[in-house]
Amino acid sequence: MSNTENHNAPSRSDDCPARPEKPVTQRLPARVTVLGENMTIRRALPHQQRRMIGAWCFLDHAGPVDVGEGSGMRVGPHPHTGLQTFTWMVDGEIFHRDSLGYEQLIRPGQVNLMTAGRGISHSEESPAERSPTLQAAQLWIALPFEQRDIEPAFEHYPELPQHAQDGVICTLLVGEALGKKAPTHVYSPLVGIDLRAHSKAETQLPLQTDFEYGLLVLTGDIEVEGEPLAPGELLYLGQNRDALHIRFPAAAQVLLIGGEPFAEDILLWWNFIGRSQEDIVRYTQWWNREEHFGTVKGYDGARLPAPELPAGVRLTPR
Ligand code: MN
Repeated sequence: MSNTENHNAPSRSDDCPARPEKPVTQRLPARVTVLGENMTIRRALPHQQRRMIGAWCFLDHAGPVDVGEGSGMRVGPHPHTGLQTFTWMVDGEIFHRDSLGYEQLIRPGQVNLMTAGRGISHSEESPAERSPTLQAAQLWIALPFEQRDIEPAFEHYPELPQHAQDGVICTLLVGEALGKKAPTHVYSPLVGIDLRAHSKAETQLPLQTDFEYGLLVLTGDIEVEGEPLAPGELLYLGQNRDALHIRFPAAAQVLLIGGEPFAEDILLWWNFIGRSQEDIVRYTQWWNREEHFGTVKGYDGARLPAPELPAGVRLTPR
């Protein structure tokens, strides 16, 4: 997915309030924005009051939306650097193409993990033959400094480990928890768990005290440590919790993300992560000149143009 918001201020990881080293409950309302050509989504990260949770630095929730009519999702070729894009398919299908030549359909219960590293470009679209409802979460994971320029890669995970407890199905998307280990290849201490209850349920999850956590409801309503939570709000939970009590009054699906607080300052602008303004300018120039990021073959549409650079940042003459 691609960041196509109109305002083009860069998001700095260091302009956010310090991470509390204690449990908190901070409500972060997601904002509604348009993804690609036509899809309205809710963006929970980055947020003005919370740029990152561990290395998780971006969180979009698309749908559930009816894609039976019209063109469905269409996100034309666009570049990424310095991050991994992580797609968790809840309902429906998305077709991925990238500049390494990968073409991959992702279905419910599957994960696509694209490592941008030094640079990659990709497109995402609804396939012609598709389910009527689309719902997905896409997250970005910042790569640590040492790995920021690694070779790009793409991995598709058709199955993720599951653990059932108290009527809640826990799918381990990233990291280790609940006696399970996810196969997804990440570069910093992280966890991601999808929690799904098909009817009323109540459970307690063990947490790591050195991780910070956040919780996003995908569908339904829940109670977390007694606090009600509904779709459209990310609940930041802070650090130093060893357990989390979640109550499902009825069917609901929730995404829990966490990680060791990311120790580095990063600069996130458009679809790029860099360490300096110079990095961002260089990546933008490469994309505008159709250099460096390769070619996405087979997408029937235009590549996405980079937005204007923030005020005061100038592209140097060629
Ligand atoms: Mn993308």
